[in-house]
Amino acid sequence: MLVVMQAHATEEQVRTVCEKIESAGLRAHPIPGAQRTAIGITGNQGMVEIGLEDMPGVQEVIRVSKPYKLVSRDVKADNTVITFPGTDTTVGGRDLAVIAGPCAVESREQAFATAERVARAGARFFRGGAFKPRTSPYAFQGMGEEGLKILAEIRDRFGLLIVTEAVDYESLEMVDKYADVIQIGARNMQNFALLKRAGRMRNPVLLKRGMSATLEEFLMAAEYVMSEGNYNVILCERGVRTFADHTRNTLDLSIVPAVHRLSHLPIIVDPSHGTGKRNKVTPMSRAAAAVGADGLIIEVHTDPDRALSDGIQSIYPEQFEQLMREVGAIAAVVHRSLPEPLTAKQALGSRL
Ligand code: PEP
Ligand code: MN
Repeated sequence: MLVVMQAHATEEQVRTVCEKIESAGLRAHPIPGAQRTAIGITGNQGMVEIGLEDMPGVQEVIRVSKPYKLVSRDVKADNTVITFPGTDTTVGGRDLAVIAGPCAVESREQAFATAERVARAGARFFRGGAFKPRTSPYAFQGMGEEGLKILAEIRDRFGLLIVTEAVDYESLEMVDKYADVIQIGARNMQNFALLKRAGRMRNPVLLKRGMSATLEEFLMAAEYVMSEGNYNVILCERGVRTFADHTRNTLDLSIVPAVHRLSHLPIIVDPSHGTGKRNKVTPMSRAAAAVGADGLIIEVHTDPDRALSDGIQSIYPEQFEQLMREVGAIAAVVHRSLPEPLTAKQALGSRL
């Protein structure tokens, strides 16, 4: 259910309505908008009759018929723009958010070498897994907390915001402490306990689409995070399983306009896992920008042949530089832009 407040409703009136909802044992989610504030209600099985219509400042109470509520554009018409305190970087605004870096943090030297190159080429976010969900229990599982410390150093040195994956409760707490964005991987998209816990963290959540998840299942996973009070969710299309065998996964770019139609949340594209092939990363990045994606997440490695994971799909720093030029040109056609690369001064200034 959704309570639509009058355009001139006061903060006090919004608060009083929220208190009334909570005192009925339900959860209130105030959603400020350009025109007016709305209050989403969750925790109810059907329509609740607690006399909200007659409260001061309330315009109407409406039933949200879609299974996802807080994720829906019906509840919030304006796009969600995620901001990062102390920086001018956003996700979901005019600028595309570009996240780049290796699949995994393998060593301090490896991570720093790639970070330096992607920062110079214009990425504002650095990716690198410290906890890796691997198909084989014998494959490299990540450096754990030591890897997170390296990522935190990278943020201080280059001003890059850190995106890294949490795989369970324990890593979630650690990732929230060290990083700026918590990645929930494709394999965990329906790990509902983990999603709920991520909904109680302070940092935004980057939620990757499950390998066989429908659009509705994907949006419901985001709803799990939001239902716990974390409204900063970034969706990520990373390819789904099909019969195609020329790529690792089939990158389903049509989900970008589909998400934008149904939801206010930003959606970015991962052409690295989406294709699994180095030579397809740049063409699919161009396509993602053209289809209106809010950003990209790209695997980059200075020595991909020796990478401990996903080397085959990791591009070289030179290729990333070219990708940024091409994506920048296409972004302009769809009225988007790439942010300026961080200068060394900004990089230091942002964290001083
Ligand atoms: C990754 O980003 O390295 C990763 C494991 O992604 P996904 O969960 O999409 O497979
Ligand atoms: Mn990877």
